[in-house]
Amino acid sequence: MNGKVYLIGAGPGDPELITLKAVRVLNSADVVLVDDLVNPVLLEHARANARIVYVGKRGGCQSTPQAYIHKQMIAEAQAGLTVARLKGGDPFMFGRGGEEIEALRAAGVAVEVISGITAGIAAPASVGVPVTHRDSAPGVTFVTGHSRDGNSVNWQALAAGGTTLVIYMGVKNLPDIVLELLAGGMRADMPALAIQNGTLATQRQTRATLQTLHVAMMAAEIGSPAIIVLGDVVKLADIAVQSAWMAQAA
Ligand code: SAH
Repeated sequence: MNGKVYLIGAGPGDPELITLKAVRVLNSADVVLVDDLVNPVLLEHARANARIVYVGKRGGCQSTPQAYIHKQMIAEAQAGLTVARLKGGDPFMFGRGGEEIEALRAAGVAVEVISGITAGIAAPASVGVPVTHRDSAPGVTFVTGHSRDGNSVNWQALAAGGTTLVIYMGVKNLPDIVLELLAGGMRADMPALAIQNGTLATQRQTRATLQTLHVAMMAAEIGSPAIIVLGDVVKLADIAVQSAWMAQAA
């Protein structure tokens, strides 16, 4: 009997922002492999006797090497087990889900993807910011601020592209990114927003401009994990607005 691996999006943090399908599959899994940034509350949906394996690097531990995660998923599925691979946000948005599906396919293991709500949409939405807008943002670019060597982002081209920029993993390299965007012609006063722990009770955010964002983030002590949004849509940010779940938790 062959098992199966489900690559599941856990959503951005708020435990209600997960799909019904993800909850159903979690409830049937024999093994759950849990990433960083997955709200542990969601493990309530796993079976009481499911084996839970944390493969993230939070808590000071080293993260599990990716090759080991691949090996483990393949071995469990080949042993006939149902494996839930739970990832923050959407499994195919900067979550290495692409590498995982390649490895699983190469091993001949059945795999299904269950989409999740990505932080790059949910975090800005939590303060009323749409990533596209008919009047001011004809598109959105999701981009990493921490790209692999040799696969770097052409920030100057993005500056000229005229879409909203939603930057994941951008905290560390923000000063360099800002310089590149300015060099590419982005306005220094382009509205900018940074949101840490979006959709969680610990969410915090700051609004500034392209030029002042870095200082504003330091002043507000906003660090990783954060989503940075650059674009005129940021003018719609109502940083007094809180999601129902956050209001409840408060
Ligand atoms: N697959 C995830 C992204 C994984 S990359 C998704 O679709 O959301 C990890 C990065 O995502 C973090 O460094 C941060 O930039 C962003 N991120 C994830 N969850 C976040 C949250 N709740 N608030 C702000 N940023 C978040």
